[in-house]
Amino acid sequence: MTRQPIEKLVLASHNKGKLAEIAALLAPYGVSVVSAGDFGLAEPAETEDTFAGNARIKAHFAARATGLPALSDDSGIMVDALDGAPGVYTADWAETPKGRDFTMAMTRVWDEVTAKGPGAPRSAAFHSTLCLAWPDGSDQLYSGKVDGTLVWPMRGDRGFGFDPMFQPLGYDVTFAVMDPEEKHRISHRAAAFAKFVAACFG
Ligand code: IMP
Repeated sequence: MTRQPIEKLVLASHNKGKLAEIAALLAPYGVSVVSAGDFGLAEPAETEDTFAGNARIKAHFAARATGLPALSDDSGIMVDALDGAPGVYTADWAETPKGRDFTMAMTRVWDEVTAKGPGAPRSAAFHSTLCLAWPDGSDQLYSGKVDGTLVWPMRGDRGFGFDPMFQPLGYDVTFAVMDPEEKHRISHRAAAFAKFVAACFG
Protein backbone atom coordinates (compact mmCIF):
# COMPACT_ATOMS: atom_id res chain seq x y z
CA MET A 1 0.00 0.00 0.00
CA THR A 2 1.32 3.48 -0.82
CA ARG A 3 1.53 5.69 2.21
CA GLN A 4 2.60 9.22 2.96
CA PRO A 5 6.26 9.47 4.06
CA ILE A 6 6.78 8.91 7.76
CA GLU A 7 8.08 12.13 9.33
CA LYS A 8 7.23 11.46 12.95
CA LEU A 9 6.80 8.10 14.63
CA VAL A 10 5.76 7.01 18.11
CA LEU A 11 7.70 4.07 19.49
CA ALA A 12 5.02 2.06 21.26
CA SER A 13 7.23 0.63 23.99
CA HIS A 14 8.20 1.38 27.56
CA ASN A 15 11.21 -0.98 27.45
CA LYS A 16 14.37 1.18 27.63
CA GLY A 17 16.53 -1.47 25.93
CA LYS A 18 14.18 -1.79 22.98
CA LEU A 19 13.68 1.99 22.73
CA ALA A 20 17.43 2.55 22.53
CA GLU A 21 17.85 -0.16 19.88
CA ILE A 22 14.94 1.00 17.71
CA ALA A 23 15.97 4.66 17.96
CA ALA A 24 19.51 3.67 16.86
CA LEU A 25 18.12 1.62 13.97
CA LEU A 26 15.90 4.56 12.87
CA ALA A 27 18.61 7.23 13.22
CA PRO A 28 19.75 7.13 9.55
CA TYR A 29 16.25 7.79 8.18
CA GLY A 30 15.68 11.31 9.51
CA VAL A 31 12.44 10.35 11.27
CA SER A 32 11.52 12.31 14.37
CA VAL A 33 11.01 9.73 17.11
CA VAL A 34 8.94 10.07 20.27
CA SER A 35 8.14 7.34 22.75
CA ALA A 36 4.89 6.20 24.35
CA GLY A 37 6.38 7.38 27.65
CA ASP A 38 6.83 10.93 26.27
CA PHE A 39 3.03 11.03 25.84
CA GLY A 40 2.42 9.51 29.29
CA LEU A 41 0.63 6.57 27.65
CA ALA A 42 -0.26 3.54 29.74
CA GLU A 43 0.98 0.08 28.76
CA PRO A 44 -1.88 -1.92 27.24
CA ALA A 45 -2.32 -5.52 28.43
CA GLU A 46 -0.67 -8.01 26.04
CA THR A 47 -3.50 -10.52 25.87
CA GLU A 48 -2.69 -12.32 22.61
CA ASP A 49 -0.66 -15.53 22.34
CA THR A 50 1.39 -14.55 19.28
CA PHE A 51 4.13 -11.95 18.76
CA ALA A 52 2.06 -10.42 15.93
CA GLY A 53 -1.08 -10.20 18.07
CA ASN A 54 0.67 -8.44 20.92
CA ALA A 55 2.64 -6.15 18.57
CA ARG A 56 -0.71 -5.09 17.06
CA ILE A 57 -2.22 -4.33 20.45
CA LYS A 58 0.69 -2.03 21.41
CA ALA A 59 1.00 -0.20 18.08
CA HIS A 60 -2.75 0.41 17.59
CA PHE A 61 -3.10 1.64 21.16
CA ALA A 62 -0.35 4.25 20.62
CA ALA A 63 -1.54 5.26 17.13
CA ARG A 64 -5.11 5.79 18.38
CA ALA A 65 -3.97 7.75 21.43
CA THR A 66 -1.55 10.06 19.60
CA GLY A 67 -2.90 10.37 16.05
CA LEU A 68 0.59 9.46 14.77
CA PRO A 69 1.91 6.33 13.08
CA ALA A 70 3.20 4.02 15.80
CA LEU A 71 5.82 1.29 15.71
CA SER A 72 5.83 -1.52 18.26
CA ASP A 73 8.01 -4.55 18.78
CA ASP A 74 6.88 -7.77 20.38
CA SER A 75 9.72 -10.15 20.92
CA GLY A 76 11.02 -13.01 22.98
CA ILE A 77 13.25 -16.03 23.11
CA MET A 78 12.06 -19.48 22.01
CA VAL A 79 14.01 -22.37 23.51
CA ASP A 80 13.87 -25.63 21.57
CA ALA A 81 14.26 -27.89 24.61
CA LEU A 82 11.26 -26.12 26.20
CA ASP A 83 9.00 -26.48 23.15
CA GLY A 84 9.39 -22.79 22.31
CA ALA A 85 8.89 -21.39 25.85
CA PRO A 86 9.10 -18.74 27.17
CA GLY A 87 8.25 -17.28 23.71
CA VAL A 88 5.57 -14.58 23.92
CA TYR A 89 5.76 -14.89 27.72
CA THR A 90 9.49 -14.00 27.90
CA ALA A 91 8.93 -10.76 29.81
CA ASP A 92 6.44 -12.50 32.14
CA TRP A 93 9.09 -15.02 33.23
CA ALA A 94 11.04 -12.07 34.66
CA GLU A 95 8.16 -10.50 36.60
CA THR A 96 8.51 -10.16 40.37
CA PRO A 97 6.57 -7.96 42.83
CA LYS A 98 9.59 -5.61 42.73
CA GLY A 99 9.88 -5.39 38.94
CA ARG A 100 11.60 -7.49 36.28
CA ASP A 101 14.46 -9.77 37.30
CA PHE A 102 16.20 -11.21 34.24
CA THR A 103 18.85 -13.06 36.24
CA MET A 104 16.00 -15.02 37.82
CA ALA A 105 14.34 -15.60 34.45
CA MET A 106 17.57 -16.77 32.78
CA THR A 107 18.32 -19.06 35.72
CA ARG A 108 14.86 -20.61 35.35
CA VAL A 109 15.44 -21.20 31.62
CA TRP A 110 18.83 -22.81 32.27
CA ASP A 111 17.47 -24.97 35.12
CA GLU A 112 14.55 -26.17 33.00
CA VAL A 113 16.81 -26.97 30.04
CA THR A 114 19.35 -28.88 32.14
CA ALA A 115 16.50 -30.74 33.91
CA LYS A 116 15.69 -32.25 30.49
CA GLY A 117 19.00 -34.15 30.65
CA PRO A 118 22.44 -33.86 29.03
CA GLY A 119 21.09 -34.65 25.56
CA ALA A 120 18.62 -31.76 25.54
CA PRO A 121 19.41 -29.24 22.79
CA ARG A 122 20.84 -25.86 23.81
CA SER A 123 19.47 -24.18 20.69
CA ALA A 124 17.19 -21.14 20.89
CA ALA A 125 16.08 -18.24 18.74
CA PHE A 126 15.14 -14.65 19.44
CA HIS A 127 12.04 -13.52 17.53
CA SER A 128 10.80 -10.02 16.84
CA THR A 129 7.63 -8.82 15.16
CA LEU A 130 7.32 -5.13 14.42
CA CYS A 131 3.90 -3.60 13.85
CA LEU A 132 3.51 -0.24 12.14
CA ALA A 133 -0.01 0.97 12.93
CA TRP A 134 -1.69 4.02 11.41
CA PRO A 135 -4.27 6.29 13.04
CA ASP A 136 -6.84 5.05 10.48
CA GLY A 137 -6.61 1.53 11.97
CA SER A 138 -4.53 -0.14 9.23
CA ASP A 139 -1.20 -1.81 9.93
CA GLN A 140 1.77 -3.69 8.51
CA LEU A 141 3.79 -6.47 10.21
CA TYR A 142 7.49 -7.31 9.78
CA SER A 143 9.16 -10.30 11.48
CA GLY A 144 12.74 -11.42 12.03
CA LYS A 145 14.66 -14.00 14.02
CA VAL A 146 18.20 -14.91 14.96
CA ASP A 147 19.28 -18.46 15.81
CA GLY A 148 21.73 -19.20 18.57
CA THR A 149 22.85 -21.30 21.51
CA LEU A 150 22.17 -20.89 25.20
CA VAL A 151 25.33 -20.62 27.32
CA TRP A 152 25.92 -20.70 31.07
CA PRO A 153 26.99 -18.93 33.20
CA MET A 154 25.66 -15.61 31.91
CA ARG A 155 28.29 -13.56 30.10
CA GLY A 156 28.47 -9.79 29.60
CA ASP A 157 26.72 -6.70 30.84
CA ARG A 158 25.69 -4.95 27.63
CA GLY A 159 22.30 -5.15 25.98
CA PHE A 160 19.25 -6.14 28.01
CA GLY A 161 16.90 -8.97 28.90
CA PHE A 162 18.20 -12.43 27.96
CA ASP A 163 21.30 -11.14 26.12
CA PRO A 164 23.82 -12.58 28.66
CA MET A 165 22.85 -16.22 27.92
CA PHE A 166 22.35 -16.01 24.14
CA GLN A 167 25.22 -16.65 21.74
CA PRO A 168 24.18 -16.10 18.11
CA LEU A 169 25.25 -18.80 15.62
CA GLY A 170 28.68 -18.09 14.15
CA TYR A 171 29.88 -16.08 17.18
CA ASP A 172 31.73 -17.12 20.32
CA VAL A 173 30.36 -14.28 22.48
CA THR A 174 26.89 -13.53 23.82
CA PHE A 175 24.78 -10.55 22.77
CA ALA A 176 25.71 -9.00 26.13
CA VAL A 177 29.47 -9.17 25.37
CA MET A 178 29.22 -8.13 21.73
CA ASP A 179 29.64 -4.53 20.58
CA PRO A 180 26.07 -3.12 20.44
CA GLU A 181 26.63 -2.04 16.83
CA GLU A 182 27.29 -5.65 15.92
CA LYS A 183 24.16 -6.79 17.74
CA HIS A 184 22.15 -4.14 15.88
CA ARG A 185 23.47 -5.56 12.60
CA ILE A 186 22.50 -9.19 13.19
CA SER A 187 19.69 -9.28 15.74
CA HIS A 188 16.11 -10.51 15.30
CA ARG A 189 15.00 -6.87 15.63
CA ALA A 190 17.47 -5.79 12.94
CA ALA A 191 16.12 -8.52 10.61
CA ALA A 192 12.53 -7.35 11.15
CA PHE A 193 13.68 -3.75 10.89
CA ALA A 194 15.33 -4.33 7.49
CA LYS A 195 11.93 -5.44 6.13
CA PHE A 196 10.23 -2.39 7.67
CA VAL A 197 12.86 -0.06 6.15
CA ALA A 198 12.60 -1.68 2.71
CA ALA A 199 8.81 -1.21 2.78
CA CYS A 200 8.74 2.32 4.22
CA PHE A 201 11.98 4.01 3.16
CA GLY A 202 13.14 1.83 0.25
P1 IMP B 1 7.74 -7.84 25.19
O1 IMP B 1 7.97 -7.84 23.71
O2 IMP B 1 7.61 -6.47 25.75
O3 IMP B 1 6.62 -8.76 25.58
O4 IMP B 1 9.05 -8.38 25.91
C1 IMP B 1 9.94 -9.19 25.25
C2 IMP B 1 11.01 -9.68 26.21
O5 IMP B 1 11.86 -10.52 25.42
C3 IMP B 1 11.91 -8.59 26.76
O6 IMP B 1 11.49 -8.14 28.00
C4 IMP B 1 13.26 -9.30 26.86
O7 IMP B 1 13.31 -10.03 28.04
C5 IMP B 1 13.20 -10.32 25.76
N1 IMP B 1 13.93 -9.81 24.59
C6 IMP B 1 13.42 -9.33 23.44
N2 IMP B 1 14.40 -8.90 22.63
C7 IMP B 1 15.54 -9.10 23.30
C8 IMP B 1 16.90 -8.84 22.99
O8 IMP B 1 17.27 -8.29 21.93
N3 IMP B 1 17.78 -9.19 23.92
C9 IMP B 1 17.44 -9.77 25.10
N4 IMP B 1 16.20 -10.02 25.46
C10 IMP B 1 15.25 -9.68 24.55
